[in-house]
Amino acid sequence: MIILKTRDDIARMRVAGQIVAQILSILESKVKPGVTTGSLNTIAEEECRKRGAIPVFKNYPNPRGGRPFPGAICASVNEEVVHGIPGKRVLKEGDIISIDFGVLFEGFAGDSALTIPVGDVDPEVARLLQVTEESLIRGIQQARPGNRLGKISSTIQDWAEKNGFSVVREYVGHGIGRNMHEDPPVPNYGRADRGPVLKEGMTLAIEPMLNMGTHKVITKIDDWTVVTQDGKYSAHFEHTVAITSHGPEILTLR
Ligand code: MG
Ligand code: MG
Repeated sequence: MIILKTRDDIARMRVAGQIVAQILSILESKVKPGVTTGSLNTIAEEECRKRGAIPVFKNYPNPRGGRPFPGAICASVNEEVVHGIPGKRVLKEGDIISIDFGVLFEGFAGDSALTIPVGDVDPEVARLLQVTEESLIRGIQQARPGNRLGKISSTIQDWAEKNGFSVVREYVGHGIGRNMHEDPPVPNYGRADRGPVLKEGMTLAIEPMLNMGTHKVITKIDDWTVVTQDGKYSAHFEHTVAITSHGPEILTLR
C-alpha cells in the first residue's frame, strides 16, 4: 500500500533529508587516499548523534538471515555495488566509494547515496559516476503527478544503456516515509507504461545502480556485500524525492 504524505509530513521529511545531505557532504569532504571506510562510518555516527538523528542502517535486519548490518553507512568500494560494510579497508588513489546513508528524525526517514572518486580515477570510471548521477536526475524529473512509475524506471535505464552501462536488477528504489522502506518498489529498468500512476504526496527513494560490465550481481559470504559478477566497477546515486503538485522536490539535495 502506498502511503500518501501530507504537506506537514513532507516538511518533516525535508528536515530528515537535510540531515542526511549535510552528513553526506561532510563525508564527501573526508574521502581521500589513506582514509579507512571505518573512519567515515565513525564520523557519520558522531554527526548523527550531534543532530539527535537515528542512523537507521545500523542493526538493520539481514534479509538473508545473517548478522544485522553493523555500520551506520554502507561503504561500497569499486566492484561493490551496495551494502558494503565499513571497516579497516584503506581507500587508495583510483578507487571509487559509494556511501549510502539514512536517518530517522522525529519519526520520518531520509535516504541518499553518492559515489565519490578517491583522488584521480580512470576517465571511463569518472564517466560511470557522471552517467549514474545523470540517470538519477533524469529519473527524478519524471517524478510528477500523472506519470506512471515506470516512466522513472525507463528513463534511468535508457540513459544508462545509451551510454554503454548496465542497470542492476536485483536491487531497486523504494517508497519512504515513517519507514525507510515502503511501497512501491522503484526499479531502475522497465517499461514507461507500467506501475502505479504517480500522485501528489508520494515520497520515493530513487537509486540507480549502474555497472561497467554485466548487470548481474552476487552477494559475498558476509551476507551483505553485493558485488558485480564480473568484478567491474559499479556506481550508485540516490535521493529521497517528494512528488508535489508542481513536480519533484529533492528532499536530500546537498
Ligand atoms: Mg540508501
Ligand atoms: Mg534506499
